[in-house]
Amino acid sequence: MKNQQIGERNARYIPGGYSSQARRLKDPIAFVSAKGSRVTDAEGRTFTDHNSAFGAIILGHCHDEHMRRVAELSRGIDQIGLGMTTLEGDLAELVCTHVPSAERVNFCCSGTEATFHAIRLARAATGRRYIVKFQGAYHGWHDYVAVNFVTPRADLGKITPFSAGTLDLATEATLVLTFNDVAGFKALMRERGHEIAAVIIEPVMHNVGGFAANDAFLKTLREESSRSGTVLIFDEIITGFRHALGGYQSLCGITPDLTTFGKAIANGYPLAGVCGREDIMRRLGPMPTGEGVFFGGTYNAFPPSVAAGIATISLLKELDGYTRLFALGDRMRHGLAGAIERTGIQARVAGFGSIWMLHFIERDPHSYEELVIQDADLDMRFRAMMLDRGHLLAPQALRRMTLNLAHTEADIDATVAAAEEVLSELVRMQLLESA
Ligand code: PMP
Repeated sequence: MKNQQIGERNARYIPGGYSSQARRLKDPIAFVSAKGSRVTDAEGRTFTDHNSAFGAIILGHCHDEHMRRVAELSRGIDQIGLGMTTLEGDLAELVCTHVPSAERVNFCCSGTEATFHAIRLARAATGRRYIVKFQGAYHGWHDYVAVNFVTPRADLGKITPFSAGTLDLATEATLVLTFNDVAGFKALMRERGHEIAAVIIEPVMHNVGGFAANDAFLKTLREESSRSGTVLIFDEIITGFRHALGGYQSLCGITPDLTTFGKAIANGYPLAGVCGREDIMRRLGPMPTGEGVFFGGTYNAFPPSVAAGIATISLLKELDGYTRLFALGDRMRHGLAGAIERTGIQARVAGFGSIWMLHFIERDPHSYEELVIQDADLDMRFRAMMLDRGHLLAPQALRRMTLNLAHTEADIDATVAAAEEVLSELVRMQLLESA
């Protein structure tokens, strides 16, 4: 079957045809295989993958040595679902050794579960109702955080749930602030800190924009949260294990109370978790009635996923993965900056480490509010024209691109060359202005 036919058949049984709405491409493409930095579709077309499963793939697709180690580590055990395994203790020890905030850790299957657990833990530990998130951040799809992600410009300043059916009682307890706004955060915490259970932040806003929290902002988050007894949660589901084994917190020097992680830790296997201070995390263990926080899940710490986590961490160490990932990201960003200069357009390159983005705006953004002024249709056109040239980018406007260890310098240079060609064509089509 060809892409179009597969798309039509799947849509007869799966609403819209996709198992996650974030996977929707301009036209249906059914992927049949993946290896290294490449993915291949049902029509035999091969693309350079710049999405890397939204960041879950870090070693490369179907990495031979990773697959060998996963099979070896999890040989002879599937999900038993009672008691414990040595494997999960091995991975827990690795997480607690590397991640500065991790005194204790617990594993679940997805990032959404991890942020839910972190917030519930914070509410239990503080006895408070409200949480703070930042405009533009994505922390998963549960009701506590399912607001103000890619909010339309006209709705900025309002609470905007991104799904019908969201419980208003949940969203009423979620306060939304502007990223990197030190004064705004301080003012809220001085006035209402005693009511706020948790502040949850992506320390680098990879979901939209790719800009980092500046030092003063991070310092203020830490100081004000400590002062008012609010739990500071770093959502490192993208940054954790992608930029360093210790996460972004090991690079920025600010230690949160709780951390959520997922994606890169297991090179594509479903594994996520929450870790943090022992006095908070202990609520997941035996506690007097009324003080314990429930943490359950049939598939938690699924042995092949845990094995994938152990194998990913060991390979990242052996391959000196982070040096290589940062070098690849730098090459991509530097190459794109050159393409922008040569085509004479107004655009900015963003991203950190192995993550890159291109914004069709004049100045580097530091918040969603500064980013959302860009032309989303133009951004989508750029992505579609890159796809036509064999470069698979994230399919939504404002979203990030993610490299993995299988990308080569030649892959990067070819992507930069294609981007330059697309930008020049957009100038010719008068959709972009050249100075
Ligand atoms: N937090 C962040 C920062 C994320 O990027 C994501 C996924 N894009 C999530 C939470 C949710 O993770 P999952 O899709 O595994 O539920």
